[in-house]
Amino acid sequence: MDALIKTLRSNKPDSKTADAKAEAKLPERSAELDPSEFMAAAVRADRPRPSRAEAEAAVTTLLSYIGEEPTREGLVDTPRRVVEAYDELYQGYHQCPAEVLNRTFGETAGYDDFVLIRDIEFTSQCEHHMMPFYGKAHIAYTPVERVVGLSKLARLTDIFARRLQTQEHMTAQIAAAIDEILKPRGVAVLIEAEHTCMSVRGVAKHGAITFTSRFTGMFRDNPAEQSRFLSMVRAPQR
Ligand code: ZN
Repeated sequence: MDALIKTLRSNKPDSKTADAKAEAKLPERSAELDPSEFMAAAVRADRPRPSRAEAEAAVTTLLSYIGEEPTREGLVDTPRRVVEAYDELYQGYHQCPAEVLNRTFGETAGYDDFVLIRDIEFTSQCEHHMMPFYGKAHIAYTPVERVVGLSKLARLTDIFARRLQTQEHMTAQIAAAIDEILKPRGVAVLIEAEHTCMSVRGVAKHGAITFTSRFTGMFRDNPAEQSRFLSMVRAPQR
């Protein structure tokens, strides 16, 4: 069940860059996922949160830190706008993955192959730099009894994407949530993304794509199913 991570570069490989190696080796969170991560909304009522005014004050502090004058005209409303943007980018903390997948359509009507949704676009924020990474998720599962509306897998992806993430963890969370809630014969998740913390800072390599995957059940046990999934994901668009 280990996530496979592979970084492809459109530029010439630059393996001497210590920074690039460090990025690739950042430790994953524990492989054992806590079901509360994907079965419930992440915001807990018993954990106090700062007020909106306190959050805006923190943005003002950052503006001063970079050398700005937070009171100048162009910046007066910036703290408010930044906090509003955060509300949108991080709304996944308030959403419950299980709720989305629990609205299932029951009947498989004899269908016994996997269902693949590919090219689900997403934008997430990396937990190391709070900078965006964005790309596509490809998700397949082989239903036993429970089939889910096709848009629900896109919704599920968005819920996890709208939290601070590592790409590896997000890949594992999507697979675990589908496994846990739909109880399919197997799940395959492949995510490809560009990380702005790597393209606009650090090694500053544009176009480097990071791939992560997770296979469970029949996809994990059967390499032929894995490669069928991968070739369908890779097939040219019509
Ligand atoms: Zn980062």
